[in-house]
Amino acid sequence: MGESDDFRRTIGYGESALGHLKKNAIPAYPRHYELWYTYAAGFNHSLNKAINEIIRLRGRISTAEVAQVYDQFVSPSRLGERIEEVGGRLSTEIGQVMGALDSSIATTSGYRNSLDNATQLLNGAEDGAAVKVVIDGLIAVTRKTEQANKILESKLEDSRRQIAELQESLEAIRYESLTDDLTTLANRKHFEHSMERALNDANQSNDPFTLLMTDIDHFKKFNDTYGHQTGDQVLRLVALAVKQNVKGQDVACRYGGEEFAVILPRTNLRQAVVVAEHIRQAVMSKELIKRSTGENLGRITISIGVSSWRRGDTAQSMIERADTSLYAAKRGGRNLVRCETDQDVTGNSEVA
Ligand code: GH3
Ligand code: MG
Ligand code: MG
Repeated sequence: MGESDDFRRTIGYGESALGHLKKNAIPAYPRHYELWYTYAAGFNHSLNKAINEIIRLRGRISTAEVAQVYDQFVSPSRLGERIEEVGGRLSTEIGQVMGALDSSIATTSGYRNSLDNATQLLNGAEDGAAVKVVIDGLIAVTRKTEQANKILESKLEDSRRQIAELQESLEAIRYESLTDDLTTLANRKHFEHSMERALNDANQSNDPFTLLMTDIDHFKKFNDTYGHQTGDQVLRLVALAVKQNVKGQDVACRYGGEEFAVILPRTNLRQAVVVAEHIRQAVMSKELIKRSTGENLGRITISIGVSSWRRGDTAQSMIERADTSLYAAKRGGRNLVRCETDQDVTGNSEVA
C-alpha cells in the first residue's frame, strides 16, 4: 500500500516542478527544483502564497525572485544549515570562554608575582616611607586585578547566557529532526531508531513487544472529494486519535503519507489488539466538520494490522507481518483490526 501511490504522486510533483521551471525560464538547479517541488506538493502554505502573489502581480516570476523566496521560505526549514549555524555560534562562545579563562589565569599569576615581589621589597624596606611605597603599589595592583576580574566575570556571564540559549536551540533542532511537521508525531527516522531499540530490548529481556500499522480507508477518494489540504487536517485528527490512545513508553509515528505506526514495548498481541481497537473506534467516532464552512464531511475509518516480536525478527520482518495483517483488514471490508494470528491473515481455515 502506498508505495506505487507515492510514486505517482511524487512524479506528479516533479513534473509540475519542471513545468514551472520551463515556463519561467529558470535554471533547473537543485534548489530551484526543490522550491517548485515544494510548491507543487503544497505543504508550505506561506511559500505558495508568496509565489502566487508574485505571479498575480506580474504574471511570471524571475530567477532572482525565486532565489529570494527560497531563502525566505525553504532554506530556514533546513535543519542542516541551522545545526551548522548553532554549531558555529557555540564554537565562537567556547572560544571566548577559553580566552577569558586564559586571561584569568594570566591575571592571577601576575597578581601572585606582584605579591612575591612585595614580600621581598617589604623584607628590604628600611623605613616607614619605603613600606608605604610597597603598600601603595600593592593596593594599585589589587585594584587593577579586581577590575580585570570584574570584566572577566561579566564576559563569562555573557557566554553562560549565550550557551544556555544555544543549548535550547540545539534541543529544538533535535526535537524537530525527529518529529513530523504535519502531525507532530515521531517521524520515520525516529520510528527506525525506536524499532532498533525495541528489538534490542526484546532480544535481551525476552519481553513481548508489538507493532501496529494503520492505514486510512479510501483516503484517496477523500482527498479527491475534499482536497489535499482538508486531507491534511484529517491526518492531524487521526494522529491525535493515535496519540490519545497510547501511553508513556509507546512510540506513535507517521510512517508514511497516511500510514501511522505504533511501537508498543512490553505489550503482547492480545493487549496490542485492544489498543488498536481503541484507536480504530476513536477515529470512526469523530464526525468531520470543515472548520471554514461548517460542512459535514462524514466520518473516516482506518484499518490496523498488528504483529508481535519473535526471536530472530528484524524491523523489516515485523513490518511485513503487520502489513500482511493490514491487508487482511482491508480485504475483510476495512475499518477493522487484524493481527498476525487471525485466520484470515494466516490463511489457515482450520478452527483452533
Ligand atoms: P485503502 O482503503 O485501500 O487504503 O484506500 P486508499 O485510497 O487510502 O489507498 P492508499 O492507502 O493506497 O492511498 C493513499 C492515499 O493517501 C493517496 C493520497 O491521496 C493520500 N495521501 C498520502 N499522503 C498524503 C498526505 O500527506 N496528505 C494528504 N492529504 N493525503 C495523502
Ligand atoms: Mg496507504
Ligand atoms: Mg489508505
